[in-house]
Amino acid sequence: MTTEPTDVLISREALQQRVAALGRAITSEYAGRRPVIVVVLKGSFVFAADLIRAIELPLTVDFLGVRSYGDGTESSGVVQITADLSHSIEGRDVLIVEDIVDTGLTLRFLLDNLRTRGPRSLKLVALLHKPARSRVTVPIDYLGFTIDDVFVVGYGLDHAQRYRNLPELRVVSEHE
Ligand code: 5GP
Repeated sequence: MTTEPTDVLISREALQQRVAALGRAITSEYAGRRPVIVVVLKGSFVFAADLIRAIELPLTVDFLGVRSYGDGTESSGVVQITADLSHSIEGRDVLIVEDIVDTGLTLRFLLDNLRTRGPRSLKLVALLHKPARSRVTVPIDYLGFTIDDVFVVGYGLDHAQRYRNLPELRVVSEHE
């Protein structure tokens, strides 16, 4: 069985336009504040790199590494923090940047975990949402695109650690 990316789901141009719009919305809604952008590794790093350059605020950036245990296709909700934030978020306006909300279990865990650390506010920006697979409801404050139940790679997203460098989002198909 081989697995390779096929059809372009979201082009480079469409990604750029949507990310710019998200940046403008965040810039106006956080005006006068100094948000901490929390990038959830690894899949969000390309999206986050573009997004922060579209936000015109005195922001700071921190990283959170997570590993989600599951059967290979779906996370179980058992999430391990593999690399924690380097600074306290107490009293800060925190904006989590996630690549994709699939079942929602990873984000549910992260929101609950970060809330215990006393941020002033805690919001979520997600590039992609797959509502068909949702298991728990997660409030997505800023959303890039809603997509069907397909497995996507590129723009930071991987399949077995490959394809993160594709400039667009592509669907992965499996064939013999
Ligand atoms: P959840 O806990 O919401 O089910 O899992 C979210 C995580 O699963 C995402 O952050 C991402 O790492 C991974 N994931 C879910 N769907 C896809 C997909 O279509 N492509 C890739 N590359 N990763 C996905």
